[in-house]
Amino acid sequence: MIGVVVPLNAIFSLHAVFVKKKMGKALWWCLVFTCLLVPLAGAAADWNILKLQTHDGLKISLKNYCESWRMNVELHNIREFQVVPEECIEYIGKYVTSTQYKVDSQRATDECLVYLSTSCNLKKDGLDAWIFDIDDTLLSTVPYYKNNQYGGRKLNVTSLEEWMKKGNAPALDHSLKLYNELKSRGVQILLVTSRKEHLRSVTVDNLVKVGYYGWTKIVFRDPANELASVQKYKSDARKQITNEGYRIWGILGDQYSSIEGIPSPKRAFKLPNPMYYVA
Ligand SMILES: [Mg+2]
Repeated sequence: MIGVVVPLNAIFSLHAVFVKKKMGKALWWCLVFTCLLVPLAGAAADWNILKLQTHDGLKISLKNYCESWRMNVELHNIREFQVVPEECIEYIGKYVTSTQYKVDSQRATDECLVYLSTSCNLKKDGLDAWIFDIDDTLLSTVPYYKNNQYGGRKLNVTSLEEWMKKGNAPALDHSLKLYNELKSRGVQILLVTSRKEHLRSVTVDNLVKVGYYGWTKIVFRDPANELASVQKYKSDARKQITNEGYRIWGILGDQYSSIEGIPSPKRAFKLPNPMYYVA
């Protein structure tokens, strides 16, 4: 019996050592995974805030990260964003209320005039035309977005329209200067906005109050085409304008949906707007 018991004990203790070893190994691997994966998971979640480096290890600041986000919105590499990334709300707020925003916008309107003076052979027959968008092109919605996390909060159309109805949107000064300069050169001013028809009178009052008047045409979105994209609606409006015989020398807008599509103008100029995206 002894001869049988001893080997059995040995087997049991060997098994125990094996299990212990296995468990030890398992525990060791568990620790390795914990050490490796937990920081990685953290890095994936917050690399842009706490780690301050890109995925390939380049050390950057939050300002670098947000400036790059803003730039790629303007380059139309980032599209269809619903809200400004939470970590960039403060940065975007600072930008749209900064001198840099004014300088960037002024550069865009200055370039419109350079183009007009050097490349446009105006016929001065009442058919030379320029199209302006309204929101964040002629009128600023920055005061509204200031109370809505500068685009960090998802758009609430009802609340935005309530704000528009107050008619207190300020003019963008550089746009007003361009507007008046074009008028003085005999270019017809055509306004094409994605604001809806029911906002017509408050919008007209707001425009006049801050110094815009003497336009030839103003087009609002009627309920019939509210389902189409803004780009389609604005392209259709241009088609109508072209059919009426106007030569569209240029467009100024803050969204690609205001300036892309057929028929294209001879030139399109974009103002900066990192607060929201309209397709
Ligand atoms: Mg606009």
